[in-house]
Parts: sequence; C-alpha cells; structure tokens
Amino acid sequence: MELGIKGKRALVCASSKGLGLGCARALASDGVDLIMNARGVEALEIAAADIRAEFGVEVATIACDVSTEEGQAKLVEIAKGVDILVNNAGGPPPGMWTDWNRDDFIAALDANMLAPIALIKALVPGMMERGWGRVVNITSVSVKSPIPVLGLSNAARAGLTGYVAGTARQVAGKGVTINNLLPGIHATDRAVSLDTAVTKQQGISMEEAQAQRAATIPAGRYGTPDEFGATCAFLCSDHAGFIVGQNVLLDGGAFASAM
Ligand code: NAD
Repeated sequence: MELGIKGKRALVCASSKGLGLGCARALASDGVDLIMNARGVEALEIAAADIRAEFGVEVATIACDVSTEEGQAKLVEIAKGVDILVNNAGGPPPGMWTDWNRDDFIAALDANMLAPIALIKALVPGMMERGWGRVVNITSVSVKSPIPVLGLSNAARAGLTGYVAGTARQVAGKGVTINNLLPGIHATDRAVSLDTAVTKQQGISMEEAQAQRAATIPAGRYGTPDEFGATCAFLCSDHAGFIVGQNVLLDGGAFASAM
C-alpha cells in the first residue's frame, strides 16, 4: 500500500538507534525526507548515511540533546515547515520508588514529557496553517500497565499522554493528527540495558533473562524496530487522518485487556 507521504519532510528525534531509527527507516522507505537527531554524532552519521544509500531520500542530521531547551531550539530551527514529527528520547533509569529525588523527576519530565510538548508547540502551528500534519510520540506500554521499577517513566509518560489526549482534539480540525505509540518490549539497546539489570539482580545469564521476559509475551518474542517503524509510518500516512489521540499498543499481547 502506498502511504501517500512521498516527498514530505519529517523530524525524527532520538533516531540513531532502536525504535527511533526503525521509524526513520520506515518513513524513508516511503520517500519521506528526514531530519534525524541523536546526542552522539558517530552513530547518527552512520545511520543517516545508510538511509541515504538505501532509500535515496534527503537526510539532514542534528546532534543534540532533545531534552534540553538548547537542543529543542536547534531542532526547531532546522525543522521549520516539517509535515511529520516523531517524538522520542531515551527512557529514564529503573529503580525503587524511594530512590528518586526532585532532580531525577525533572530529568525524566524534561526528556519524556516536556521535550515532546515543546516540539509539538513549536511545529504543529505550521502544520495547521498548511492543513496537514502528523505527530507520533513514542511512549511506553507503561502508560496502560505501569512497570513498577520504571516509576520515573510511568510518571512522565502519563503526563504526556494526558496532554496529548486534549491537544489532539484541538488540532484535528486543521488536518493534524497526534497519536502515541506504546512499545512493549522490543529488541533494542534499551532492552539490553533493562535485561542486564535483571541478570545482576537475579544472578542469571543474559539468555535466561531474555527467555524469562519473552515467556511473559503471548507472541513469545521481542518486537523489532522494523515492525515498530512500519506502524509509525502508517500513523503518519495519508490514510491515517481519522486516527486522532489514540494510544496504540505494540506489545505482542503482553498487556491483557478485552479492548
Ligand atoms: P535505545 O536506547 O535503543 O535508543 C535510543 C535512541 O535515542 C538512540 O539513538 C540515542 O542516541 C537517542 N537518545 C537517547 N536520549 C536522547 C536525547 N536526550 N536526545 C537525543 N537523542 C537521544 O532506546 P529504544 O529502545 O529505541 O527506546 C526508545 C524509547 O522507547 C525510550 O524512551 C524507551 O524508554 C521507550 N521504550 C522502549 C521499549 C523497548 O523495549 N525498547 C519499551 C518501552 C518503552
């Protein structure tokens, strides 16, 4: 199926690796020109060069921390006039509910709530003026089913979800959709770092930790960045204009609910 977005421009935040990269690749495969971002230059340039070579689209890169106001200002400057915004940043560290202080909460809110809100506020007005736009926020399954050791993530993402629920309905009349994609466990560096914490806590091997986690997923495996990216590209497609303010779960069935 043609997605109807060839020639559009997208800012994909935190996209040198993992789920962000999956989204960037899927959009590029449908002919979308990209602005890619990550903190480190090296992995970002490698990912961008691969995408240019494989899909023949234009790819600009901007190495900065999306969780800072300075980083957001750089991104907004280069991304003026984009049609598609994919919000993403690294997730907060795991811990116990008693571990976190005010600074830890502020860091989590900056990365996983206030950064996407700042970019939405900066880039959605232009989309509304042009009568077409797509925003996809990468959040987490923890929005529907909180993960006890990820209290910082549970808190910050709940805040973003509430903001999006109202805002999506205020901008939809101008042809702009805002939706959230909620990953369950996917095979990325983030999963490796969470599984490494489990190996240390439980004194088990990486293979055992991964098998233990995979056994909690009805699909019996971790998700892949490619299939995550394909769903993101569909939400950004011309066909998805009636999907507004939704929280789309990609978790292999791990969160059991009737609807
Ligand atoms: P990852 O660690 O594999 O990749 C993160 C990417 O983001 C990298 O390109 C990194 O350079 C970039 N990045 C991180 N912080 C950044 C920042 N402040 N500014 C700019 N770039 C930054 O992570 P992932 O697995 O792809 O996860 C993406 C998001 O989805 C995270 O917020 C994560 O918590 C969430 N999530 C992931 C899973 C999973 O299983 N992988 C599950 C639930 C939620």
